[in-house]
Formats: sequence, structure tokens, C-alpha cells
Amino acid sequence: MMQDCLFCKIANEELDTDFVYQDDKVVVFKDINPQAPVHLLIVPRKHIPTILDLKEEDKELVGYIYLLAARLAREEGIAEDGFRVVSNCNEQGGQTVFHIHFHLLGGRNLQWPPG
Ligand code: 5GP
Ligand code: ZN
Repeated sequence: MMQDCLFCKIANEELDTDFVYQDDKVVVFKDINPQAPVHLLIVPRKHIPTILDLKEEDKELVGYIYLLAARLAREEGIAEDGFRVVSNCNEQGGQTVFHIHFHLLGGRNLQWPPG
């Protein structure tokens, strides 16, 4: 647990956050500034600042998160139409919270240019 990390605080239930899903490895909650009708953040409980900090020992966790993303996409009803899983890294990648997380986006056409 990192003292000044927003997502550590959320995962630690120090902030009042409604979890869509939680278990011993991850918490999932709605993005405060949604970019699509479904916009969830899948956040590992482990504090890993960026994708660049992933270690061999985190391989299973990343796979776990993708399987969970697929499951949540089905549950949210966006699986068939299509969805996006995004993880931003560092400034030009658009990362603003330095605790890795995976955006699950869907419920609208995300194609660009629109297909
Ligand atoms: P990033 O820009 O690092 O890829 O994603 C961070 C995301 O966290 C942004 O989409 C932002 O809207 C979301 N976010 C930032 N602070 C909070 C918060 O306090 N609560 C929730 N639910 N989402 C947050
Ligand atoms: Zn953290």
C-alpha cells in the first residue's frame, strides 16, 4: 500500500467507492469521468506504478485481469457489439494515475474513424 496513491486508497476502502466487483487481487469500479456508457476501471490491489514496472511475477495477474475484463464485458452486455480494454503508460500515453489500471470501455461505437 502506497500512502499517497489514489488507487491504493480506493482499493483499501479509504475512500467511499462502490465496487462493481472485488476479490483478493483486484477491485473494479466506474470511472468518475466516463468516456463511454460502460467505463470501468480494473485495478490490481498491488501497487505497480506503470506497465514498465511489471515483473515476471505479475504475468499471472495481467492474464487474470484480461479474463476478468472478458467476463465483465459479457455481464455488462457489451461483449457481442464490442468493447475496448486500454492501459495507458506515462505522460504521452495519457496516464494520469500512476498505479496500473485497465479501462473497460463499451456501449458505443469506439471505432475511429466511425465504421
Ligand atoms: P489514466 O488517465 O491514468 O489512464 O486513467 C485514470 C482514470 O481514473 C481516468 O479515466 C479518471 O477519470 C479516473 N479517475 C481519477 N480519479 C478518480 C476517482 O477518484 N474515482 C474514480 N472512480 N475514477 C477516477
Ligand atoms: Zn497504488
